[in-house]
Amino acid sequence: MNELAYCPQCRKRVSFDVREGSRSTLLDGVAYGYPIKQAVCRECGAKAVYDPFREEAELAFNDAVRKGNGLVSLEKVRELPKRYNIGKRPLSLLLGWGEITYTRLMAGQAPSKSHSDLIERLYDDPSAYYRVLIKGKDRITKTAYRKSERAVRVLLDGEFPEAVKIYEVADYFCQLSKGDITPMMVQKLTYYAHGFSYVFLENPLLSQQPRAWAAGPVYGQLWHEFKGRDLESEYAHASDPSDGSSPFSADEERLLEDVYAAFGRYSATMLSRMTHAESPWKNARKRAGAEAGAICREPLSAQDMARFFGGVAERFNVRSSGDIVRYAEAAFSAPLPLDS
Ligand SMILES: [Zn+2]
Repeated sequence: MNELAYCPQCRKRVSFDVREGSRSTLLDGVAYGYPIKQAVCRECGAKAVYDPFREEAELAFNDAVRKGNGLVSLEKVRELPKRYNIGKRPLSLLLGWGEITYTRLMAGQAPSKSHSDLIERLYDDPSAYYRVLIKGKDRITKTAYRKSERAVRVLLDGEFPEAVKIYEVADYFCQLSKGDITPMMVQKLTYYAHGFSYVFLENPLLSQQPRAWAAGPVYGQLWHEFKGRDLESEYAHASDPSDGSSPFSADEERLLEDVYAAFGRYSATMLSRMTHAESPWKNARKRAGAEAGAICREPLSAQDMARFFGGVAERFNVRSSGDIVRYAEAAFSAPLPLDS
């Protein structure tokens, strides 16, 4: 080894031998043992200071803490930003952490148990990462978002539209509303967007059907996703979703905008009453034999959806998605029910 270490005894840089040993360090009252290397001055035999060994010791210590607590490996910590094509700072912000927290973890600091669990989960489940990306969209630049969005979509492959598209739809409405929206409204708007997609898109917007809950058609995963969230503060400063960063086609975007324009101004209660009058929900309840107000998990049928919304388009002269507003206005000014 040609490198030099600093010897405090000789007070100069010296050549050195390497002695292997171990050390034990306390953290939160727990002792962690780990291997270290020590530089020894060849001239006087005293311990000499060699920075790379200090860094190795630091890493070995963090490694011991990791192993002792079942924490995520450093490899995974370092792989995560590469996997989702995102910088360590934007990633940190996306996760709602301090800007340099992730940088510290990349340098070898052992994460807390909760940070560790999150990293493991995001690493193993691209759709979980995708949801975090959507939620934290406004905390990072549009470029960073788009780059990462592309990367995760490639990982999700064919799974993308099916597994996570529904969260994008919901997020789109939240952004349009700037937070002036409730979880129940998100459900209704998503349902109408999906319903009218049978009329205006080549393929249905979503692959899954809502279920005929007592409160109307409900997507279970959205229910869980939105439960307890403060949408008002979360989306108060949301950017315009049609700024080119959305993953939707132009037709899909138009549909979402038009559905929001048609239904977004009504309260969740009014929208609920409306969906209760529509045949896809009523038929599903009937199929399941559910009494009024009873719990029911029956999905609405795709056939019912296509037939009902096709009928609405005909009856209310809805020729393009921009005309959907006619149905909403008629529904709220005419006596229900609407299914014929
Ligand atoms: Zn010396």
